[in-house]
Amino acid sequence: MSNQPKPYKLFIPGPIQVSEKTFRAMTAPMIGHRSPDFVELYKSVQPGLQALFETKDPVFISTSSAWGVMEGSVRNLTKKKVLNCMNGAFSDKWNDVSTRIGKPTGTLRFEWGQPVDPEAVRRELSTGEYDTITFIHNETSTGTMSPIAEIMAVVREFPEVISVVDAVSSFSAVRIPKDELGIDVLLTGSQKALALPPGLSLISVSQRAIERAKTVEGRGYYFDFLEFLKNHEKGMTPSTPAIPLIRALKSKLEDIEAEGIENRFARHKRLNTRVREWGAANGFELFPAPEFGSISLNCFKNTRNIDLPALNQRLKEAHGCVIDGGYGKLKGQTFRISNMGDETDETIDTLLAALDSVLKELNA
Ligand SMILES: *Cc1c(COP(=O)(O)O)cnc(C)c1O
Repeated sequence: MSNQPKPYKLFIPGPIQVSEKTFRAMTAPMIGHRSPDFVELYKSVQPGLQALFETKDPVFISTSSAWGVMEGSVRNLTKKKVLNCMNGAFSDKWNDVSTRIGKPTGTLRFEWGQPVDPEAVRRELSTGEYDTITFIHNETSTGTMSPIAEIMAVVREFPEVISVVDAVSSFSAVRIPKDELGIDVLLTGSQKALALPPGLSLISVSQRAIERAKTVEGRGYYFDFLEFLKNHEKGMTPSTPAIPLIRALKSKLEDIEAEGIENRFARHKRLNTRVREWGAANGFELFPAPEFGSISLNCFKNTRNIDLPALNQRLKEAHGCVIDGGYGKLKGQTFRISNMGDETDETIDTLLAALDSVLKELNA
C-alpha cells in the first residue's frame, strides 16, 4: 500500500473526513440486493432517516451523487415551468440542468452571498406560471443559508407549486422539519454533513409529489420517483445500490442516535461559531451577511489577500489538513472551512492552531 498518498484531513465542504467506524461498516460481506438480508438492511435505516428528515414520507436511497436526484426531481415534477432560485454555484447550475433536460424554466437571481428572498419568491410565483420551485437551503459555494421557514411559508401559499429543497450541506447539521414546513421533496448527499464517502443521495418525496410525477412524461428510469416508490414498498431500490454505503449510512444513523440529534445540532453551531470567531479575530470578514452565514461551514473573504494555494500546500505538508480555496468564480477571493460531520472542539482547535502557524510562517 506504499503508493497510497500520505493521509491528510479534509476540512473542505465535501467530501469530508470519514471515520474508521464508518469505513469498517462498509467491509461486511456482500449480500444480494434482492435478498431478505438486503430488505432487512433497507428497512433498518428508514426509521432513522425519517426521524432526521422529520417526515412520514418514504426516504428513497439513490446510488448517485446529489446531482442525480436534483436533476431527477425536475424531470419527475415539472410540467409547466420550474422556478429556480439562484444565489450561488450550485443553485445556478440547477437552472442550467433544468434547461438541459428541456424543461421550461424561470429564474430568480440574487447576488452570490445573498440569501433567497421570500418576498421575491412570492412575487414570482404570483405570476401563476410555475408548478415547481427549486432552492438550496445552504449554498455551499458561498456559505450562505437561506431562511427556509420563511421561504416555505410563501411557497405554501401556492398549492399548485411542488417544492424541491436541496439540503445537501445542511442536512443533519441543523433542524429541517420537512413535513412541518410542507417541503414536498427534500434531498441530500452522503459526503457532506453525514460524513459518509461520496456515492449516495437520499431523497424524501411527498404524496403530492408522487401524484404529480404520475402525470409527467419522460421521467426516465434511473431517477423515476414511481420506480423508487414501487421498490421502496418491498424494501428495495430500483437497481443494484451501493450496498457498502448503505451499511455506512446505517452505522452513521447509529452514531447520530447515540450522540442525540439536539447535541449534534448544538455541536455544529458551537464549532461553526468557534471558526467564525477565529476568522473575525484574524481579520477575515465573512462572505455572506453573518445572519445568513451557514452553520456547517464558514466562507470568508480573503480580506488579507493571502496566497491561498501556498497556505493550503503548507497546511497539508506540515499539518496534514486541507481547507478550501474558494469555489468557482470566488476561487482565491474567498476560502471555506467546513465544520460539518464528526468534527469536535479538539479537531477544530487543532486546525485553527495549524492555520495560525501557517499564516505566521507565510508572514501574511
Ligand atoms: C455538494 C453539493 C451539491 C452537489 O453534490 P454532488 O454530490 O457533487 O452531486 C449540490 N448542492 C449543494 C448545496 C452541495 O453542497
